[in-house]
Amino acid sequence: MKKIFVLVFAFIGLGVMVMQFDFQRFAKRSACAFCDTEVLERQVFYQGDQALGLLTYKPAVPGHVLIIPKRHVERFEDLTQEEVAALGQVIKKVDLAVRKTFGTSDYVLIQKNGREAGQTVPHVHFHYLPAQNFLAAKFLISPWLKPLEKEELTLLKEGLSEAISESDATDANLPLGFSSDLEPVSDLKATAF
Ligand SMILES: [Zn+2]
Repeated sequence: MKKIFVLVFAFIGLGVMVMQFDFQRFAKRSACAFCDTEVLERQVFYQGDQALGLLTYKPAVPGHVLIIPKRHVERFEDLTQEEVAALGQVIKKVDLAVRKTFGTSDYVLIQKNGREAGQTVPHVHFHYLPAQNFLAAKFLISPWLKPLEKEELTLLKEGLSEAISESDATDANLPLGFSSDLEPVSDLKATAF
């Protein structure tokens, strides 16, 4: 009889341990994915002063990447002017890198604010989607998207960061009309669009 009690208590003890372990994992996972150092280490391919270019875990189309502010900011309207400018600059850099790496030209930018808009990660992020397959882009957040393998992530990171370094070093290979020299915001204001 004693043995049964010992077994029952052992099971309860084990159950409590498992529950605590699961809870900790859940708590860790529910924190912002884009502030998670493991995610950033694995997926960032470009680091600016205030904004980053990172791979998405489940690309909707080849070349689908994200641009985020370094600081944890939930919605676009909460960004500082400097962060908005930094994001714009990184979007331009990433655009050039994706064009070079994937041979694309047209693209879609998507940025969602709030749950009703379909925002799932509470940290401002721009989806950059090359539009060679617009149908696929429409299914951006789909449960059937295939996650990238670790090796694919590493290769893509290297390819894109190399493309950015090359663009920074020389304009020779850039498409006509594109320059890797990003204009300061004050100059942009003076340009008539
Ligand atoms: Zn965050």
